[in-house]
Amino acid sequence: MGRDSHPPYTRLPFTVQRRAGGSQARAATMQTLHGEVQTPVFMPVGTQATVKGQTVESLKTAGTRVLLANTYHLLLRPGPEVFHHFGGIHRFMHWDGPVLTDSGGFQIFSLPRAREMGEEGARFQSYVDGKSYLLSPESSVTTQRAIGGDIMMALDQCISSTAPYAQAEAAMELTHRWAERSLRARGDSPQALFGIVQGACYADLREKSVAFLCGLPFDGFAIGGLAVGETHSERYAMTELVTTRLPPSLPRYLMGVGTPIDLLESVHRGVDMFDCILPLKVAQQGVAFTSRGKLLLRRSVYKFSDTVLDAQCGCQTCQHYSRAYLHHLIKAEEVLGWHLVGLHNLAFYHRLMREMRDHILRDDFLSYYERQRLALVRTDEEHPSRPPRKTRTRRPTCLGDYEIHRPAHGFASLRQKSSGEVMHSVNAPDEEADRLYVEQSCLASRLVRRPAPAGALVIWDVGLGAAFNAMAALRCFESCYAEHGAHAPRTVQVVSFESDLDPLALVTKHPGDFPHVRHAAPVSILKQGRWEHSSGLFRWELRKGDFRVSLESTPVPDLIFYDPFSFKTDADLWTVEIFARIFQHCLPKSTELYTYSASTAVRAALLAAGFFVAEGVGTGPKATTTIAFTRADGAGNHPRSPQLLGQPWLARWRRSHTRFPSTLSPEAQGRGAVLIETHPQFCSNE
Ligand SMILES: [Zn+2]
Repeated sequence: MGRDSHPPYTRLPFTVQRRAGGSQARAATMQTLHGEVQTPVFMPVGTQATVKGQTVESLKTAGTRVLLANTYHLLLRPGPEVFHHFGGIHRFMHWDGPVLTDSGGFQIFSLPRAREMGEEGARFQSYVDGKSYLLSPESSVTTQRAIGGDIMMALDQCISSTAPYAQAEAAMELTHRWAERSLRARGDSPQALFGIVQGACYADLREKSVAFLCGLPFDGFAIGGLAVGETHSERYAMTELVTTRLPPSLPRYLMGVGTPIDLLESVHRGVDMFDCILPLKVAQQGVAFTSRGKLLLRRSVYKFSDTVLDAQCGCQTCQHYSRAYLHHLIKAEEVLGWHLVGLHNLAFYHRLMREMRDHILRDDFLSYYERQRLALVRTDEEHPSRPPRKTRTRRPTCLGDYEIHRPAHGFASLRQKSSGEVMHSVNAPDEEADRLYVEQSCLASRLVRRPAPAGALVIWDVGLGAAFNAMAALRCFESCYAEHGAHAPRTVQVVSFESDLDPLALVTKHPGDFPHVRHAAPVSILKQGRWEHSSGLFRWELRKGDFRVSLESTPVPDLIFYDPFSFKTDADLWTVEIFARIFQHCLPKSTELYTYSASTAVRAALLAAGFFVAEGVGTGPKATTTIAFTRADGAGNHPRSPQLLGQPWLARWRRSHTRFPSTLSPEAQGRGAVLIETHPQFCSNE
């Protein structure tokens, strides 16, 4: 078979329909023996002539079009004679769509048992019955012909992508000799055959491999030897180097890749076909890919969640089952949990491929790519659990009086340089915002309460800072909106008070460290001082400047998230006087104020100002926080019935050395003491 002989490529007619502008991405169709395939396409892995935990019917509802089967496993069990008997894998497993078979090369590479690799092929012992087998280019093709897949792969020698040069070169040359032998072994079979480009992470070897294989009459090309030890950037670079040199008229298949972001990056670089065990493997551990990030279903945050996995997914799992049920199945290690999450993950992968194809055909793939490369690396945005990943790019890490604070262990936060104070110093800022302000105020249930109270729910966000609290409120709203549609959520008006916007400006430059700012809202607040949800149901505005100047001119709030710097740094915002002004302004309403401080002096100042004061939930190492109510029945009407401070607190306060903020004059302290001693909160307890 000479390098110059090019028989017509009729085994796998391949038509490129469109190439995306500004990208190597392309949309194409491929005619197989079992129907047309639209690319880019993801092929689930059916190792043992089954995709683990799925039926052929469930695969079809998930959107599966092509299956991959493993020659190595099927050679050992059930054996080629069974496929001969059934006339191939399609009838055997009741699948009427296209099948791609691999060559067995990758399994030989990762074989746990002893193997001998030589010019002839690889000799190894069966893990099923201990018999000795020779996997050669010829025996691989013979087995693949018996299995009867639509697309076969030539046997290659797969080595670690980080192998030394001489070893990589020798493996590549052996692969080339095996490629020629595979084509001869294919003979007159109508099955298509792909050659596999090798060369580890050496550019010149990859170029050499492409040049050699393109001289052979293959029906398409695979990029082998990646996803086995190299970095992501090496993988992307090698992929691009190979695709730009492969003939544009033939399909390209990146073997064993990968995660959703890998698929996006590789389609962008001109790959048409993918396979990976990942979506089903992680399903067994309860990991689900969703349009709002990756979910770890074992986490107890889902124990009572009656929302579906992904509101944007139409798969059977998302039509019928709650997160709470899936959480339970995964915890109980039930097979159904694996099946349902696997089905959803496959639907997610297939939808991602379809979306990419649609955007290529509409020629707006590039902007889709830019959006998705941020979206696809998120983990559950509603319930963040891990410290955000550190960004590798060098961006300024300080602005004005603020710098990014990255402790050796844990989450990124912000530090005010002049005071040394760290915002949210004790636990992850997103988690604290959720727990202390959003969950404790029962914001979600207020948004969907029926009948909806008249007027907007007004939230004051005192101390916008890096917008952790306001974004936590927005996430809560968006989740209610996704769940209940446009009719249910009550209109929300958030007013943030801040004199210094540097903290927010700084974190928006570091979305890798601060995932909460990966949203249009914070940028709009910075630029225009306002943002509105497309539904008009969530309005957010900024009052820039001193809170004390603008508080009386701001609509009376239902909820106050009181989160300025501490008394030590910002004493003016913790005085009896400022709390009294807030109290007077809020009196027309039943207002609730939430704050992280639990200090005796702050609680005394709130009481002296007229508030009724209760214990708030602890967060991180803080055992307790503080809630203040304008009305006596505020705590009683609260869904969580927080405990008002009682006589034991009063007794401790009387003994305390810091009964009031130290800035208070002795006369004012005397007046404050009288107000506390006669406060109805304590009188009614006696
Ligand atoms: Zn789904």
